[in-house]
Amino acid sequence: MVHPMIAANWKMHKTIPEAVDFARALKAEFPETADRDIVLAPPYTALSAVAAVLKDSPIHLGAQNVHWEEKGAFTGEISAAMLADAGCRYVIVGHSERRTLFGETNETVNRKLRSVLDHNLLPILCIGETLEEREEERTFSVIEEQVKEALNNMSASDIRRFTFAYEPVWAIGTGKTATAGQAQEVHAFIRKLLGDAYGGESAAAIAILYGGSVKADNIASLMAEADINGALVGGASLDAAVFGSIVRYDRQ
Ligand code: PEP
Repeated sequence: MVHPMIAANWKMHKTIPEAVDFARALKAEFPETADRDIVLAPPYTALSAVAAVLKDSPIHLGAQNVHWEEKGAFTGEISAAMLADAGCRYVIVGHSERRTLFGETNETVNRKLRSVLDHNLLPILCIGETLEEREEERTFSVIEEQVKEALNNMSASDIRRFTFAYEPVWAIGTGKTATAGQAQEVHAFIRKLLGDAYGGESAAAIAILYGGSVKADNIASLMAEADINGALVGGASLDAAVFGSIVRYDRQ
């Protein structure tokens, strides 16, 4: 069985004191989390402060983005080495906001993933179709292209370190959640793609998260699906009590 993961993507929200207060509250609520992984991805400015709070806690720290170069004249960018130095374990790569607002392509996503792996960090790779692509019945071809191009030159041992996040763009921050059935259909397709490329055993062990307007009242039905192994949560992750109840999806 795949270990479930609930991850918070705070995007461009929270000052350092707000991030620290949240992390302290969550750490107190989940002193041990043996049966699920919890990840907080604060903005860069709060990474070190949150890392200090999460020390001695099973809750993991994640970053929202990374640059693929090691160091150099890349004003405004942060490398994987810097994220590791700040205490991160996970890095979200290829979020749809990065793709649509900041011009990320499957090729730059692939370079970022390589750098993340080279620094012993664990990628959370986001993929998902737009509303237009879904309406044109191109969901599966778009997902296939995103997965194949992002994973170009990745080995089976690389793949075992991945978490995937299926995030239909039309469901992010819109209040429109994919139905559990719609999400499951795409999750099963992603797992099949991974199985075809890397073998069924590797594919069965990979966590595939769903993201897109996940809330306390829809998480349980999503998690009941066979291929949904967790959630990447944006808006509903900004409040510690609400996020805590999503993490406790099976103990409401
Ligand atoms: C996200 O940004 O990854 C996300 C899923 O956002 P929201 O939960 O707000 O839809």
